[in-house]
Amino acid sequence: MPRIQQLDDRIVNKIAAGEVIERPASVVKELLENSVDALATRVDVEIEEGGSQRIRIVDNGEGIHPDDILLAVTAHATSKIRTAEDLFGVHTMGFRGEALASIAEVSRFIVRSRTAEAIAGTELIVNYGDAGSPQPAAGPPGTSFDITGLFANTPVRRKFLKRPATEFGHIAEQFTRVALAHPRLHMTLSHNGRDVFDLPPTDRLIDRLELFHGSELTEKLIWVENETGDCRVWGYVGHPSQTKSNRKGQYLFLNGRPITDRSLSHALTEAYRGLVMVGRQPIAYLFLEMPPELADVNVHPTKAEVRFQDSQQHYRLLLSTIRTTFLGLPLETALRVDPTVAAQPGAAPGPHQQRLSISPPQGGTPSSFNWATRPSTAPTTPSAPGGPGTPVPQPGEHVSTATTGPVVAHHEPGRPVTTGGGIRGIQVHDCYLLIETPDGVAVVDQHALHERVLYEHFKQRVLDGDVEQQKLLVPETVELSAREAATVTESCELLASLGFVIEAFGTNTVLVQAYPAMLRRPDFPELLRDLCETLERPGQQPDRRDILESLLQMMSCKAAVKAGHRLSSEEMASLLEQSHLIDDAHHCPHGRPTALVLSRTELDRQFGRLG
Ligand code: ADP
Ligand code: MG
Repeated sequence: MPRIQQLDDRIVNKIAAGEVIERPASVVKELLENSVDALATRVDVEIEEGGSQRIRIVDNGEGIHPDDILLAVTAHATSKIRTAEDLFGVHTMGFRGEALASIAEVSRFIVRSRTAEAIAGTELIVNYGDAGSPQPAAGPPGTSFDITGLFANTPVRRKFLKRPATEFGHIAEQFTRVALAHPRLHMTLSHNGRDVFDLPPTDRLIDRLELFHGSELTEKLIWVENETGDCRVWGYVGHPSQTKSNRKGQYLFLNGRPITDRSLSHALTEAYRGLVMVGRQPIAYLFLEMPPELADVNVHPTKAEVRFQDSQQHYRLLLSTIRTTFLGLPLETALRVDPTVAAQPGAAPGPHQQRLSISPPQGGTPSSFNWATRPSTAPTTPSAPGGPGTPVPQPGEHVSTATTGPVVAHHEPGRPVTTGGGIRGIQVHDCYLLIETPDGVAVVDQHALHERVLYEHFKQRVLDGDVEQQKLLVPETVELSAREAATVTESCELLASLGFVIEAFGTNTVLVQAYPAMLRRPDFPELLRDLCETLERPGQQPDRRDILESLLQMMSCKAAVKAGHRLSSEEMASLLEQSHLIDDAHHCPHGRPTALVLSRTELDRQFGRLG
C-alpha cells in the first residue's frame, strides 16, 4: 500500500461537495438557509433549466464584511460558531462552514455582498474552486449568489442529474420547506423566467399552506398544540380523510429546521391508527421547539437528521397531542346528500336523482368521493349495472329509477329485525345493515362492523390475559419455509398471548397445539403464512405492541363475517346489539368506515319537511 498523505484543500472541498451538494436543490437549500441566518426579510430565487444552467439567489440580509468574503468560500470558515461547546447550542441553520466552499468547488460561482454600513459592496468570483481577488461592486445591501455550470467539472455527478422538470421539483420542495418554516420571509421563485411562487410575508402558517395547497386542503386541517417541560409542539395535521400513499405530505421542523425522524414519523402513524386505511399516510405540518442543547444537529452532513437527547419524550408528546385533539373532534364519516346538487334549479325532486357522497361532517367540501366511482371504500349503489365506471347522474339529467334507484327500490329485502334492546335494522344485499339510530339512519358494512367488534373484544381478552383457547386433540403439523418456521418459533411467546401454542418441529415444520377459539376452524397453513407476513412486514417496528396490534387486526378480519353472507335473525340481532359501537368506533381496524350516517334533519331537509 502507498504511504499516507494529507489530502489538499481542493480535494477535501470536493469530497465535502459530494456530501453536501447532491443536486441543484441542495445549492438552493444551503443558500436559502444562509439568507435566513443573515436575517433577510426577502429572498428571490431564479432558476434556469432545473438549476443545471443557473441558480441565482438574492437576499436583503446583513451581508458579508468585505474583508470576510474570501473566508466565506473557505472550508470550515463560519461566522456562526466559535468553540466546540457552541456546537451544542446552535441557534442558526448553518454552522459547519462548508456549503459555500463546496458549491464554489463545483461551479462557476459569483457572490456579491454589501453590509448596511458599507458604502459599496464586494464581488468575488470563484471558478471551480479557483478564487479570484475580491473586487468592489455596486449594489443594494444584502447578498446575491450567481451559480452557473454546476457540476461541469464533475461529469459523473452532472450525468446523474435528472430532467430539468424533475430537478426543479426538488428545488421547489426545498423552497417549500424553508417557506413553511419562515412565513415572515417574503420569498419568490421563478423557473426559466416564469414566476412560480410569490409568497408575501405573513404571521400565519396557514396562509402559506393555503398558497401551496389551496383552501380545499387547508380548511380541513386540524390545529394541534401542546408542551411538556422545555418542549413545545404545534402545527397542523390532516383530517383522517386527507391521506397520501407516501410520507411526502409530512413536514417536520425542529427549531425552524426541516428534519426527518423515524421515531416521530412513527408517532404520527400511530396517532392515526384505525382512522386511516392501512398503507395510507396522514399529512402533517408540525413544529417542534426546544432548547438547542436537547438535540444534536451535527449527525448528518446536510443536517436532515438529528439526534434527540430524549426521543421517547418527543414520541409521547406528539402521539398524545394528536390523539387528545382527535378525541374532542367528530371524526365519523357522514353520509350526506350533496347540497350543491339539491340547490340546482331544475333538479328533479326525489332523492334518487342526487349524488350521495361521503365527507367529513363539518367544514368539509362536498363530495370528496361518491358511491358510484369508489366501490372499494364505499358501497356501490347496488343496482347500478355499470359497476365502478358508471357515471354519476348530473343534475337535471333524466335518470330512471331502474339504474340509480334508492337502495331498497327493487331488491328483495331481508327481514327486518328488532333486537331485545329495541334496535331496528335490516340487512340488504347480504352485505350492509340499515339501522335506525336516535338521530337518523346508519348504513353499516357488516364485515367492517363485525371486525371492529371482534377486535375490541379480542384485544380486551388479550390485555386481560384471558384468551379463549381451542386445544387440538391431535396437534397439526404445518409445513412452512425455513424462514417462516423460524419467524413463528421466535415469536412463540408473543403468539402465546394471543392463544396460540406452537412449537418448532424440524427446520421447516411447526406443530400447532392450540389456537384462539375466535378463529373457528382455521386453515392453518394459510393462517401461519399470514402471521409470518404480519410479523415480517417491512417497516414493522420491532415493537411488541405494534406487532400485537397488527396480529389482532389480521385475526379479527379473518374471523369476521364476510360480505355476501346472509345473516340469520340471531346473527343480525347480535350484531345490531353491538351497533352502539359505531358511535365510538367509526372505523374498522383497517380504517375503512364502518358506518355512514344520514341524519334525520338531513332526511327531513331533503324531502322538503323543513321550512
Ligand atoms: P455556514 O452557514 O455553515 O456558516 P456557509 O458556507 O454556508 O457556512 O457560509 C459561510 C459564511 O458565509 C457564513 O457563516 C456567513 O457568515 C457567510 N454568509 C453566507 N451566506 C450569507 C448571506 N446570504 N448573507 C450573509 N452572510 C452569508
Ligand atoms: Mg450555510
